[in-house]
Amino acid sequence: MIVKHSKLDINEISSAQFSGRDIRDKNLLKLQTYNKQLLKKVYQLQNLVEVSYRLNSVLDEEQIIHTYLLNLFGLLSTRSVVILSAKSPYSDKFTPIYYQGIGKAHAETLTVGRTDPIFRLLQLHHHCLVLNKHAYLAKKSKFLNQVANLECQLLTPLVHRDHRFGLVIIGNKHNNKPYSLAEIDIFTTLTNFLAVALSNARIYKEMERISLTDPLTGLFNRRYFDNYLDTEIARAKRFEHPLSLVMLDVDHFKNYNDQLGHLNGDHLLVSLAEVLTLTVRRSDIVARYGGEEFCIILPEIARDGALVFSERLRNTISAHPFRKREVQPDGHVSISIGTATYPDDAQASNDLVEKADKAMYQAKNNGRNRVAVFD
Ligand code: GH3
Ligand code: MG
Ligand code: MG
Repeated sequence: MIVKHSKLDINEISSAQFSGRDIRDKNLLKLQTYNKQLLKKVYQLQNLVEVSYRLNSVLDEEQIIHTYLLNLFGLLSTRSVVILSAKSPYSDKFTPIYYQGIGKAHAETLTVGRTDPIFRLLQLHHHCLVLNKHAYLAKKSKFLNQVANLECQLLTPLVHRDHRFGLVIIGNKHNNKPYSLAEIDIFTTLTNFLAVALSNARIYKEMERISLTDPLTGLFNRRYFDNYLDTEIARAKRFEHPLSLVMLDVDHFKNYNDQLGHLNGDHLLVSLAEVLTLTVRRSDIVARYGGEEFCIILPEIARDGALVFSERLRNTISAHPFRKREVQPDGHVSISIGTATYPDDAQASNDLVEKADKAMYQAKNNGRNRVAVFD
């Protein structure tokens, strides 16, 4: 090296030394740029982990969508978004559950049905589609034509455990530039998080519904009724309001079953539940207590009001043209009703149920198809 240097004149040496430093500086600059990009990536990943945590720690669909959108709009400066999903697990039609940057009247007509090429494409893909690379789709898809004014750019299916239950579509960016690969990755990842969180929330909601409703009639079951009655009595206490409980039992239901079979018996219970639901106010709660026994909670209704309501209900049932009602001993379906009222008859929920039940058996003993108020 020394020999070599000795052959160079001073200008060459300084220029060689300068270019060496220059390369070092350039490399340093490159490293600093890489470092910045890596830090940005790390920051984005941390952000995504945080989003995933937030999305998966709530079970409310609206909250999940809100968190998703907050991050979508924060990370990508997109102008419009439409989230479509199937209304039930077996539906093969996707309709909007959320939209932004698109008018209500327009959004409510959007659908992706089985015959739309988008629907078929979703069955094959897991990942994001850059729509302007599929020009033929824009011609054939009714859905893409419907959202043409959004200038749709990216579409990602909502997939969870191989089940495709919807899609998210986003329009142009505010600056009209195409989405970068990194942005497409972010959109795909966020939407995959959304799919898992939405799917879990729906499973949870369905489990909750199953655990609180009676599968035959669709009414609330006894578990829900017990909790609800406790809550309503606590509320009645706080506001010093009365509350009445109505218990009813179908008269001679065994006869109906024996004459027509259990399937017809089931059918009668379903029809009865429908009539009960139509007869009560929105604030009243109807539940199947067990077998052919039903309960109705009447918040803010005192003893006299409960009697008036029960008489009206009894008349409605005995006049209702239930299928094959002529097999019953009186030629029609009838119920016996017992009522009890808070605070007059009981202070606690189990006591109130017991009193209403006693009144109902009194109605039975007095000849059926009648109302007895606990005394
Ligand atoms: P009462 O007027 O004294 O109430 O007489 P009843 O025949 O209605 O009462 P009983 O307790 O003798 O019979 C009730 C019947 O209800 C017996 C039971 O098999 C039937 N039952 C209970 N749950 C169901 C159900 O989910 N479906 C059908 N089809 N029958 C049911
Ligand atoms: Mg009965
Ligand atoms: Mg009974």
